[in-house]
Amino acid sequence: MAKLAKYKITIEREGCISDAICTALCRNFIMDDDGKASVINEIVDESEYPSHHEAEISCPTGVIRVRRI
Ligand code: SF4
Repeated sequence: MAKLAKYKITIEREGCISDAICTALCRNFIMDDDGKASVINEIVDESEYPSHHEAEISCPTGVIRVRRI
């Protein structure tokens, strides 16, 4: 069986404008006590890629990165 690709998810939090769009699109994002988004699991596999990619391309400030590792 082919091994699933892995992806690393990062947020440049200083650029987050707290609109919570990413949390509406993907359950791996949460809003933290400081009002900015955080990622719960930094490493995800291919099956979880679509929702993370959706958040990445929908973030208005472009601070979410989904990078294959
Ligand atoms: S979509 Fe971008 S700006 Fe909006 S809460 Fe998420 S990381 Fe912050």
